[in-house]
Amino acid sequence: MTIRIAEDKCTGCGECLAVCPFEALSLVNDKVVVNEACTLCGACVDVCEFGALSMPPEEAGRQPVPRPVDGIWIFAEQRRGRLAPVALELLGEGRRLAEELQATVAAVLFGHHVRGLADELIAGGADKVYVVDHPTLAEFLEEPYAAALTALARRYQPEIILAGATYIGRAFIPRVAAVLDTGLTADCTAFSIDPDHKLLLQTRPAFGGNIMATILTPSSYPQMATVRPRVMKPLTTDHDRQGEIIPVSLPELDQPWRCRFIQTISEISETIPLGEAEVIVAGGRGLQDAKNFRLLEELAELLGGAVGATRAAVDAGWISYQHQIGQTGKTVAPKLYIACGISGAAQHIVGMQSSDLIVAINRDPQAPIFQIADVGLVGDVFEILPALIQHIKANR
Ligand SMILES: Cc1cc2nc3c(=O)[nH]c(=O)nc-3n(C[C@H](O)[C@H](O)[C@H](O)COP(=O)(O)OP(=O)(O)OC[C@H]3O[C@@H](n4cnc5c(N)ncnc54)[C@H](O)[C@@H]3O)c2cc1C
Repeated sequence: MTIRIAEDKCTGCGECLAVCPFEALSLVNDKVVVNEACTLCGACVDVCEFGALSMPPEEAGRQPVPRPVDGIWIFAEQRRGRLAPVALELLGEGRRLAEELQATVAAVLFGHHVRGLADELIAGGADKVYVVDHPTLAEFLEEPYAAALTALARRYQPEIILAGATYIGRAFIPRVAAVLDTGLTADCTAFSIDPDHKLLLQTRPAFGGNIMATILTPSSYPQMATVRPRVMKPLTTDHDRQGEIIPVSLPELDQPWRCRFIQTISEISETIPLGEAEVIVAGGRGLQDAKNFRLLEELAELLGGAVGATRAAVDAGWISYQHQIGQTGKTVAPKLYIACGISGAAQHIVGMQSSDLIVAINRDPQAPIFQIADVGLVGDVFEILPALIQHIKANR
């Protein structure tokens, strides 16, 4: 289906060609014609002052989708009976949005023998917890998880679904959005509510982090988004909070699946994982050489922390990718982040700006990292780091 054209009204002015984002319009013999690239976005209809373009009657008469009734849902990811921290972070954000929307916050919990986690979710901010307890959901598998969330959303009609942009969320949430025929914004860093239409404004970095794009899902429900772990803040746990636990049985899960779970093999790591470290000492191009990362390791060891890096340092081969922090690396929010020889590019900052205390060491007083640093030390890392290490050792 494409846009309708009234040839007798078309003057061949070409205004519509200029606004079509899909190059679906062209002029033939001074009359506009449309091709199959048309998505019925309606941009051309709005600019045509001669009334030559119109939506097909089916689209023009389409009724607005009624607003769903079940407020904000948080997908409460758990692994082996432990809630992923991002679940509580999303609950904190969900509560804030719920106040603006005058809506409820529900957590959706999948697994087997996980009902005990529902109390943690209520203490973390949920008004109610939908618990789908089924052997098929004991370990994460994309197909049954997607089927369960889709069935649940169809049954209870949430207005918004938020999930962590973890490997689990990234794997199955897009399937749910596709089956529900709605939009999904991945890797959001902020949310707000549009005051006029009460829609969710979903903000995320775009074009390599150079701009922040705000995305809307204006014509379908639920509005769906994923959020990287450690971007949002959890609420203080309140065990006196009251909430409702709703066990749900889904017949959709009783079927054979194409994949089955066989075994989990845990990665063996000798250092503190970056995501769990309370202190991170990170280095950038200013470290100048792989061997100089030894200084960072020494300081990190003294502080009980982990070593992070910028993409520039990783690309130079000074440290492995698993240490990279930023847009194409990990997102971290430690209590203390010490940035050494790091300029503070937007793509790096997006991965560490939620740290509680940021200390930056850079010899360039104009370095952008100082704009977000709580403590800035202008000087040479090769003088400051050894002095800091000596000072800590001497005061042990
Ligand atoms: C699509 C895309 C994704 C990206 N993803 C990431 C990402 O995930 N993570 C990431 O980090 N980057 C990422 N980048 C790269 C990012 O744009 C920057 O290039 C990178 O972060 C710069 O790293 P840096 O700060 O180490 O290096 P530089 O920008 O070169 O900064 C080095 C700093 O060290 C200082 N310095 C030099 N010598 C000394 C010294 N002796 N003592 C003290 N200070 C010194 C300098 O003054 C300078 O400020 C991405 C880029 C793109 C386009």
